[in-house]
Amino acid sequence: MFIEAINLSKSYGKQSAVQNLTFHLEEGQIVGFLGPNGAGKSTTLKMLLGLIKPSSGSVTIDGKDPQEQEIALKKQIGYLAENNPLYPEMYVREFLAFIGNIHQITNLESRIQEVIEWVGLEKEAHKKIQELSKGYQQRVGIALAILHDPKILILDEPTSGLDPNQRDEIRTLIKSLQKDRIILFSSHILSEVEAICDRVLLIHEGKLVTDSPLKDIKNLEKFFKEKTN
Ligand code: ADP
Repeated sequence: MFIEAINLSKSYGKQSAVQNLTFHLEEGQIVGFLGPNGAGKSTTLKMLLGLIKPSSGSVTIDGKDPQEQEIALKKQIGYLAENNPLYPEMYVREFLAFIGNIHQITNLESRIQEVIEWVGLEKEAHKKIQELSKGYQQRVGIALAILHDPKILILDEPTSGLDPNQRDEIRTLIKSLQKDRIILFSSHILSEVEAICDRVLLIHEGKLVTDSPLKDIKNLEKFFKEKTN
């Protein structure tokens, strides 16, 4: 699997949101997708998910246009949205089964059990989603994103609202998913990006200002401020 953006651009009327982004992502990497609010991150992710169409340029997954191949490609993508929308009235297993059926997963019951154990939800899995603490709701979101075993994981602020212990656990979990996958990880918590990512894409005012291995950046916070001020 690979993701390739070539001169990817999007304008909303006169407002330019993303300009000429070019990057190539391969499996096995956790990539931090960074930028100040309004930089164009969500717009880029929406184009990658096939939800909106580029104004010019392209983004492809294995050479395919996400808009044309929406259903086939959706099976390859796991997405944890920023506000992690869940169905609060549903029980955890019921919810995962509901989504698993949409994905037409075979051996669904055993897959749900496997994922529940993987994300550490065993003790909470009998509850309704609305009864869970924020950290456990976040785990349900991650369980949902990985349920169909996608090759691409897009995680938008996966640890926002968590306490430091929960953050550590989610971080370890994300690291454990790295092999054979492309993980695109968006976060404003730069210490976390430093702890988890191999590579950083930094966008500012719609333009890619950095595409670098993390190890080449000494102090990410300082770097971020210099590049985006
Ligand atoms: P980020 O996710 O990095 O905060 P966005 O991609 O949401 O950035 O936004 C990039 C720019 O595009 C911002 O200036 C934002 O106001 C603008 N924008 C985003 N969505 C829309 C929209 N639907 N209509 C008009 N402008 C938009």
